[in-house]
Amino acid sequence: MNATVDGVIRVAADEKIDADVHHGGVLEVAYTPAQLARLRAFHEAELAYGEDDRTLQGARETAERIRVAGAVGSSWTPHGARLHPVKLVKGLAAAVEALGVTVHESTPVTEIKPKHAITPYGTVHAPYVLRCAEGFTASLKGQRRTWLPMNSSMIATVPLPADVWETIGWAGRETLGDMAHAYMYAQRTADDRIALGGRGVPYHFGSRTDNDGRTQPATVDALREILVRFFPQLTGVRIAHAWSGVLGAPRDWCATVTLDRATGLTTLPWVNHRVRTGEPEPLRWLGVHGMYATYRAADHKELRSHTADAPRRARLADRLSGRGA
Ligand SMILES: Cc1cc2nc3c(=O)[nH]c(=O)nc-3n(C[C@H](O)[C@H](O)[C@H](O)COP(=O)(O)OP(=O)(O)OC[C@H]3O[C@@H](n4cnc5c(N)ncnc54)[C@H](O)[C@@H]3O)c2cc1C
Repeated sequence: MNATVDGVIRVAADEKIDADVHHGGVLEVAYTPAQLARLRAFHEAELAYGEDDRTLQGARETAERIRVAGAVGSSWTPHGARLHPVKLVKGLAAAVEALGVTVHESTPVTEIKPKHAITPYGTVHAPYVLRCAEGFTASLKGQRRTWLPMNSSMIATVPLPADVWETIGWAGRETLGDMAHAYMYAQRTADDRIALGGRGVPYHFGSRTDNDGRTQPATVDALREILVRFFPQLTGVRIAHAWSGVLGAPRDWCATVTLDRATGLTTLPWVNHRVRTGEPEPLRWLGVHGMYATYRAADHKELRSHTADAPRRARLADRLSGRGA
């Protein structure tokens, strides 16, 4: 997985795709005692997987990278890069088209059967059909409960001036995450904005997916609150953009690959891993919304508490959602 980061960067360079790539690594910060306990456990688990170039940092070293208000520690790995996904995907499309590949857009597959992809305009026959529809998998016939379509939302500030960047640091342009239960993620963009994301409305009833990117004002406010909690000097900063998209979460949050004849992958934990389907409605909607309400309440409690233990309700939500498995 770490090698794929270098692989993406190499392909972008070889194909002369300017996708604002910066290989600055990933910084995961903790800003409560309970988050610090989770950060240490996470760090140890990563080391056990052989990630021996990962470093655990105290408050001072964390601030030398990014001055996140109240940060008490962080874990940094070099295996991560910032990029601009739309520039990358457009560049890749142009590169494969130049090789003679035809990219068919606006052709929805409605159902997949062995060796058949069925569309309103006809059926495509192929020895292998790859189902790569992420959260949109729910729109395929018979797949409504296979993957949970989870919404994620982002905001981007206006470009910030140099004097503000001096107060924040972030010269290494690491990608940034935290150890909250309802976690955030952020990058310093090539044009010096902060793009920050997290969970908005987590799930729509009946696995419905939006695909126009519209973002509710309440979600923008919640993300702005996180931005200002991290960087209080940004109170009042203008949010230039907001966007929401969908990703697919298996019921147990474990990745799966079912077939790869070319590489002969057979021993990695996700090969042929079977995921059970999600619950029927209304249990599904109630479950996801209940889980995120619980995580947010737990995050608020941890901000006020001085203990390293996650609240009981967060541990229970982890067990029910499968994330604690
Ligand atoms: C707001 C947001 C922020 C994110 N931030 C990050 C981040 O900071 N870092 C990170 O690593 N990841 C991030 N992700 C996750 C990342 O975007 C996804 O993991 C990644 O895009 C998945 O790629 P994919 O090609 O598997 O699926 P997708 O990019 O979701 O592509 C699926 C494609 O299938 C098409 N499709 C859907 N249904 C059908 C159909 N019936 N027939 C034909 N085609 C169909 C869709 O149009 C789409 O083009 C974020 C996601 C969101 C939504």
